[in-house]
Amino acid sequence: MNEYTTIVGMEIHVELATSSKMFCGCINDPFGATKPNIYTCPTCLGMPGALPVPNAKAIEWTIKLGLALGCEIQPYSKFDRKHYFYPDLAKGYQISQYDLPFCKKGIVKTLLGDVRIQRVHLEEDTGKLQHAIIDGKKVTLVDFNRCGVPLVEIVTEPDIHSGEHAKLFLKKLHQLIRYLGISSADMEKGSMRLEPNISVRKSNVKKLPTYKVEVKNINSFNFVKKAIDFETNRHIDLLQHGQTPVQETRGYAEATSSTISQRSKEEAQDYRYFPDPDIPTIRLTKSYVEEIRNTLQELPDAKVSRFVKEYNLNEQEAIQIVEEKTSADYFESCVSLAQGTKETAIIAPTHIARRIINQQEKTELSPKQLIEELISKQRQKQIDPNLVRQAIQTVLRVQTKAIGDYKKGKTTVLMFLVGMVKQELKGKGDASFIETELKKRLG
Ligand code: ZN
Ligand code: MN
Repeated sequence: MNEYTTIVGMEIHVELATSSKMFCGCINDPFGATKPNIYTCPTCLGMPGALPVPNAKAIEWTIKLGLALGCEIQPYSKFDRKHYFYPDLAKGYQISQYDLPFCKKGIVKTLLGDVRIQRVHLEEDTGKLQHAIIDGKKVTLVDFNRCGVPLVEIVTEPDIHSGEHAKLFLKKLHQLIRYLGISSADMEKGSMRLEPNISVRKSNVKKLPTYKVEVKNINSFNFVKKAIDFETNRHIDLLQHGQTPVQETRGYAEATSSTISQRSKEEAQDYRYFPDPDIPTIRLTKSYVEEIRNTLQELPDAKVSRFVKEYNLNEQEAIQIVEEKTSADYFESCVSLAQGTKETAIIAPTHIARRIINQQEKTELSPKQLIEELISKQRQKQIDPNLVRQAIQTVLRVQTKAIGDYKKGKTTVLMFLVGMVKQELKGKGDASFIETELKKRLG
């Protein structure tokens, strides 16, 4: 059996799509900006004396996400300063949350096992560095358009045990965020950034390993999976040689599907966290939290169970339909339209679901057009069985060679005959019914 167990906890950063930034009134649209440094002010540029004012919408959305993840919302919360020196944040510290995050203890269920959410907290994004050559000199430019954008950080417990497991978890989290409409969660643009913390231990040891390796800022589920698989093998190799992997931060290298050492990982004390004296402690009343809970719409898991129960879909179909909220909504508008027609019985929800799943590209048809198409197809199929039998007789009278071939065991001829019968019926008739009737006649 497997001698080693992979242990992964994840940190996920998600940029919230609020209209303004986290602690100032600047526009929050770093990707839409036509020039660097146009959405800036003394606060997000870290000028002395400029004061931060928390964005109420960002707090509301963080709590909304926490509730959707089944978290306990903390009655008291505060913002802290996390210090580090790097030019992407002019203040010299990031406003984040240390010991009193907004949300704790959630859960995400996946087919490979539940992943507990340790915490969900709110912080601010940093600016973007751009390395360039100007007048022959290597320079680093800073764009602060993204600096101060509200950033939610989701931290899991170390409950993930493989690359595939991580991928399933991340897909569900991504889906949830998209359903809530709080972020584009566009990974190519970096609106959702993924960091697995990976270690490996002997399967018969229950204690957590004494080290972990963090792979920074990955922007695709597949890369997370590959990074975890690569690290697992690397750690096992070291452990088998009696070594312990070094606690460090690594980067993912797309070209080789491997990871590369970057720096040794800092400990929390290196950041000198302390409460931001410019922002008062935040107290959330029960009624405020309940108000937000009431705005929660049906979430993907609940939708899947309802679609199975209410519309008779099998679970796999329901999961596919529910994957995107737009397709779930589209499906339900089609179903309600079909229920208003005489053909209700033949246009079953399962029928509609399969039609939506089977089409490759996103549908251009309106629900009305789709239902009309299904109804006309059904009408075509509905034809007097005696007419079908007559057509079969007509065809068989002519196709003597085909009959001979069929009797010699060339069964592929059957599909040819079905086609001929359909032609005789001017495209009408149900292929499988024709086939059954043909078989009866051919014996
Ligand atoms: Zn600003
Ligand atoms: Mn963070």
